[in-house]
Amino acid sequence: MKFKMKSKIAIAMVSVLSLALLAGCGSQEQVESTEESGVVNVYSARHYDVDKEVFLKFEDATGIKVNVIEGKAPELLERMKREGADTQADMFITADMANIYQAIDSELTQNVESEIVDANIPENLRGENNEWIALTQRARVIAYDKEKVNPQELSTYEDLVSERWAGKILVRSSDSTYNQSLLASFIELNGEESAKEWAAGLVSNMAREPEGGDRDQVKAVAAGEGELAILNTYYLGLMVNSKDPEEVKVAEKVGVFFPEPTHVNISGVIVNKYSKNAGNAVKLIEYLTSEEVQKQYTDKNFEYPANPNVEPTELLKSWGEFKPQDINLSKLGEYNKKAVEIFNEVGWK
Ligand code: FE
Repeated sequence: MKFKMKSKIAIAMVSVLSLALLAGCGSQEQVESTEESGVVNVYSARHYDVDKEVFLKFEDATGIKVNVIEGKAPELLERMKREGADTQADMFITADMANIYQAIDSELTQNVESEIVDANIPENLRGENNEWIALTQRARVIAYDKEKVNPQELSTYEDLVSERWAGKILVRSSDSTYNQSLLASFIELNGEESAKEWAAGLVSNMAREPEGGDRDQVKAVAAGEGELAILNTYYLGLMVNSKDPEEVKVAEKVGVFFPEPTHVNISGVIVNKYSKNAGNAVKLIEYLTSEEVQKQYTDKNFEYPANPNVEPTELLKSWGEFKPQDINLSKLGEYNKKAVEIFNEVGWK
């Protein structure tokens, strides 16, 4: 660990905190916390190779050590709530607005003040007071079996409940926030009743009971279990570029269709209200939203950049352009509970 201590007070603080840490937790995790020391502690529910690479580059460029604790979003949220003011988390990175909203709703955020961030990320991709900042965008689309489906037959998400698709649709379980946010967007755009009808209709058109993740839905289409899969495009990007030739073959069997308007979610970041290294956290966010890193996110993880100065990677461009839902993203979080209720009512497993 590199520390850049500026005063005896800082050294004293390190000692106190180190003792507190030694006494407080028996885990092996390396977490440090000192005012403006050379660290930033990140709780992250994004666990992609590209994230590790960009953290290392940030360390090299700034000398600020990035300590990452990975976990599932609900676990990390619970942990931050439990830790409260004693938390080591300077920031929380996660997929899905539903999870970001939880952090805001639990009053775990602080407003990020940075002209660099403001310049990097458009207003609709950050909170009103920068209580959250988007890092990437993800489109949730329809993948279709190229042999059995003419894309001309496809139009909107709403149309997926028509007779044509009876027994043909593959989609993961409603436990996934990706689906919860999709339904939340319909609650916002079409109203609760209509969203419920859609969810019920989709359940009756499912090819099988939901199982597996987004990638497994594509595999099921390739195996002939159904004709359409609902999924986030980056999974398909990862499959097309997989080292496993079987995955590549599977991915090549499907085409990508963007319903109009397309549901777009984000992955994003909040700075913890109780951060002890908030300055470093903001520096890291400035870096993560920079053109350099945004290009990495799209080139290596096939997500859409949140910084509009960076173009989506070639593969994404080859799938075409789309019109995103015109929606205030915080609504995805606000309607999350309602969406979960509807899924339970209509029996979407
Ligand atoms: Fe994912």
